[in-house]
Amino acid sequence: MADCLFCGIAAGEIPATRVLESPRTIAFQDINPQAPLHVLVIPKEHHQNLAVVAEAGDGLLDEIAAQAALVAAKAGVAETGYRVVFNTGDHAGQTVHHVHAHVLGGRPLGWPPG
Ligand code: AMP
Ligand code: ZN
Repeated sequence: MADCLFCGIAAGEIPATRVLESPRTIAFQDINPQAPLHVLVIPKEHHQNLAVVAEAGDGLLDEIAAQAALVAAKAGVAETGYRVVFNTGDHAGQTVHHVHAHVLGGRPLGWPPG
């Protein structure tokens, strides 16, 4: 989709530090990390948010979730624990309208989030 930051990253037109890739997803470092591990997992194809990608029902959401778990394992936080977050809409603070899973870990994260 034109003018979508994460479509640009998926296409390799905008630089990002990639940590993992699968046939339909890419994982890269968040530019403004909120924890020692802060990686974003996105589908290569554009979907606006969690509801839209879930509605598609074609296994893509499973692939995003599996990649999030792999990112955590690769970073060595599978045992200590981690959080996977899909900010959705204004009240959650979604700023990029291309669905992305935040994978956060490497320190106690606290609950509830602010
Ligand atoms: P959200 O607020 O859930 O929409 O999350 C968007 C995330 O994208 C934020 O955590 C930003 O720090 C991150 N972000 C924005 N621009 C970039 C970029 N060029 N490369 C990597 N992460 C980015
Ligand atoms: Zn996009």
